[in-house]
Amino acid sequence: MAKVSIGLRGWRFDEEEIISADGELKPLDEIPEEPRERLVRLVGLVEEPCDVCYLEHGDAEIHRCAQAEIVYGEPGGEVLLCPTHEPDFIYWFREAGGSDHTGRQAFGDRFHEWIAAGNEAPDGYASVEHVEEDPGGLPDLPDQTEIQQRVEDEFEGDRIDIRALAGENPTDDESADRLDENDLADSGVDLSTEYPSNR
Ligand SMILES: [Zn+2]
Repeated sequence: MAKVSIGLRGWRFDEEEIISADGELKPLDEIPEEPRERLVRLVGLVEEPCDVCYLEHGDAEIHRCAQAEIVYGEPGGEVLLCPTHEPDFIYWFREAGGSDHTGRQAFGDRFHEWIAAGNEAPDGYASVEHVEEDPGGLPDLPDQTEIQQRVEDEFEGDRIDIRALAGENPTDDESADRLDENDLADSGVDLSTEYPSNR
């Protein structure tokens, strides 16, 4: 089954679970729960800055932060990265105990703490790391922005279902244009998510 990324590299989806035969994103209610949660979560992540940039520059210099292009970890406990900072994450994951936190909501927090403590990948680590798996080999997908829009549109039109998915009562709705950090974190669902391979 082909694996595809949408919006951000890192999380990968089984193509046939999320894309219909005519190449469109399936309606959300036809997508299995686990990939659906990640898709919904992605909507709130695609515009976010890289976590490492953000830890360096903060809100005061948010303009200096690169936009995230990569996501790893669990929905609600994920790590967002720009390509410059991906080696720091890969190093932490493989060499500094990061993989011990695989599958846990605290995954992102542990990485952020490691960065905040002043750690980083050794010089040159980037050169041995992360070769994109066959970047030209991704299936022919609709434009990613279009998929993103589609998810957002369905989310808007299907707010109650999505909020139920996040384990919330559909009461106080107008403030809930998109899920916040806690909605999915509180859902307590155990998700199997893609991580870098340990080599
Ligand atoms: Zn960065």
